[in-house]
Amino acid sequence: MGDVIDDYAKRFARLRTNRNRKVWSEVTAHQAPHKPILLLCVLDLFDSGEIRENLVEITDDLAALFSRYWERALPFNHRGNLALPFFHLQGDGFWHLLPRHENNGLGSQITSLPRLQEEIIGARLDEDLYDLLRLKENRDLLRGILIEAYFSPETRRLVFEQSVINRGALVYSEELLKHPEDHRVRETLHIEEAYRSAVRDQGFRRAVVSAYAHRCALCGIRVRTLDWHTAVTAAHIVPWSETQDDRPANGMALCRMCHWSFDEGLFGVSQGYEVVASRQLNVLDNLPGYLSSLEGRGIVAPTQKPFWPDTKSLQWHLNNVFRI
Ligand SMILES: [Zn+2]
Repeated sequence: MGDVIDDYAKRFARLRTNRNRKVWSEVTAHQAPHKPILLLCVLDLFDSGEIRENLVEITDDLAALFSRYWERALPFNHRGNLALPFFHLQGDGFWHLLPRHENNGLGSQITSLPRLQEEIIGARLDEDLYDLLRLKENRDLLRGILIEAYFSPETRRLVFEQSVINRGALVYSEELLKHPEDHRVRETLHIEEAYRSAVRDQGFRRAVVSAYAHRCALCGIRVRTLDWHTAVTAAHIVPWSETQDDRPANGMALCRMCHWSFDEGLFGVSQGYEVVASRQLNVLDNLPGYLSSLEGRGIVAPTQKPFWPDTKSLQWHLNNVFRI
């Protein structure tokens, strides 16, 4: 087994990457970081138990993890497109795309996630690589090699931190979704103090946004880009600082405008799950636009009842945040 891990360690350190020094700075060792970041995401998915067979699928989680790494390592760079490494990693010999349709040679390059999903079931790893990755010590070794080989010394710490947060958030989020009534899930968070708040934020967001399937609970919009960035965020109904309650039922997925309006007390939600609007929407020279049409409408609730907003939380918000 030692020889096999050594072999993959070398191959991970020498991925075929774009090495255009005009485009890629020393932050990413003068190489395109797409493939190493994709592999870091795959390691995170193994760690959190999301990959249980030899198949890497094109999922929301993979896209979200990829964005997180990218934003952390390259906050000022243009966005990375996950579809590119997912397609091109096949050139490195251990990543095999499984076409969805027979007789599909996948000859031409695929550059968007929806297209990729249409054409490809996922990627299968070499069997011996898959076996290696089932062991945590091998994942830790390969993670270290990726971070060392493709990021500058100053960036390595950020990327490593993000890997801790990504793994912790996936596990925390699954706990929140599995135990929707349990106020004490946070106590299961076995993670260093320095990372706890980032892990909670990212985990809560994943749980709530997936419970609402990316729709805004107040205005109902769902807008996603082709690389699956989403317009909604996760809002606490009763703020974390008050009750330390990360249950999905103490949250709603809200678009940026509705999130701001809800936190400002311009909107609330009644005990019958209808939108309540503040009179302050129409003061000064406000032009509230479509926000005016939301009053009295039913919220867009999650399909699963345990994730519906807790009426006690909603009442707390009406009493303490909402502006008459
Ligand atoms: Zn909205």
